[in-house]
Amino acid sequence: SERTLVLIKPDGVERGLVGEVIGRIERKGLKLVEMDLRRVDRKLAEQHYAEHDGKPFFESLLEFITSGPVVAAVVEGPHAISAFRQLAGGTDPVGKAAPGSLRGDYGLEVQYNLVHGSDSVESAERELKLWFPELQA
Ligand code: ATP
Repeated sequence: SERTLVLIKPDGVERGLVGEVIGRIERKGLKLVEMDLRRVDRKLAEQHYAEHDGKPFFESLLEFITSGPVVAAVVEGPHAISAFRQLAGGTDPVGKAAPGSLRGDYGLEVQYNLVHGSDSVESAERELKLWFPELQA
């Protein structure tokens, strides 16, 4: 069994899609281990998106992720990392994300793509420590 960090980004919360995202996670058979609604400060945003530092969209991405509450969740199950990435769909909601995926069904623009899910075992480990420091591995 594996753990992954799932975020419902400010656009998903603002648009009332929390229930839809959580419902799909549950119906897939994945388990919610931790979940809360929180504001993201600039420091956490910079650490979370450190790999994008220097890219043209970095500043706007930080502004977006700190613009309103997000849902942060620890999701567990067999292949949880790739299982959630599949539910989410490709990064770009049009062109990459398949219909039937969260981004494919509800997204239009690459920045406002509703959700985040860790992309590897290493990222999951790093991100879970960052968002849920009190959790044991
Ligand atoms: P996430 O890490 O949020 O799950 P991802 O792994 O699918 O997304 P990344 O390439 O890591 O995608 O990009 C991180 C986030 O940065 C994307 O989810 C999106 O919100 C934003 N982003 C990526 N590319 C662009 C872009 N060209 N313009 C604006 N925002 C972008």
